[in-house]
Amino acid sequence: MSAALDARVEALNAAFPAMSPLERLQHLRETVPGRIVFTTSLGIEDQMLTHLIFTNALKIEVVTLDTGRLFPETYTLWQETEEKYGRRIKAKYPQADALESLIDDQGINGFYFAPELRKACCGVRKVEPLNRALEGASAWIAGLRRDQSANRESMEFASADHARGLVKANPLFDWTRAEIAAFTARHGVPVNALHGRGFLSIGCAPCTRAIRPGEVERAGRWWWEDETRRECGLHVDDPAAVSDTEEAKAALFERADI
Ligand code: SF4
Repeated sequence: MSAALDARVEALNAAFPAMSPLERLQHLRETVPGRIVFTTSLGIEDQMLTHLIFTNALKIEVVTLDTGRLFPETYTLWQETEEKYGRRIKAKYPQADALESLIDDQGINGFYFAPELRKACCGVRKVEPLNRALEGASAWIAGLRRDQSANRESMEFASADHARGLVKANPLFDWTRAEIAAFTARHGVPVNALHGRGFLSIGCAPCTRAIRPGEVERAGRWWWEDETRRECGLHVDDPAAVSDTEEAKAALFERADI
């Protein structure tokens, strides 16, 4: 299984560079059997991928993680996107019991007071629902770009998530934000109104601010924390990512990024 997964990833990394994003999605669908899940945050990269998947009727599930703390503009875009394409974006939610325990423990905005509390919130609201969204999937598509952060420069188009036994693919990995913005404008793809107000990377409302001139794209995420510790746990390569042990969770949050 592991060798086969590695071989599949190697073949994708050889094929992807010469292809357009649509061809990459089609190639992934043709070469990877089973469920393929695309997780969208409804950011501009993800909106481009959603457009390609829906307009070409690709058999790829489009799923979002509704943390319950998203911006009103994000919910508006979610609705607008479903109306435009006539397709449902499936949502995964935090487990009610875990969320109640979290709020009992740290309060409604506890994430501001310590990195551990913030990571606990991301764990309940994002990581656990993500793990459920990917259960049984053969491939996971995300909209990461190489130039979004230093962490992402060394990533590949495709990688093996051995813990989950799936391929993770980023079809827009070598695209720039300007190229994606040009595509969405040209094709009338709906995008989040917040992008036009300085929010280049959009997550939960209490944890995202607009960036200032000269700041990097993701500077507005968890801005109150030490820059090197701003992680939430969705995009990790470490097998510890899906383990429940405290040690594994610590490793997960130390190395994750979104
Ligand atoms: S980004 Fe903020 S509100 Fe959202 S899950 Fe993480 S800590 Fe909680």
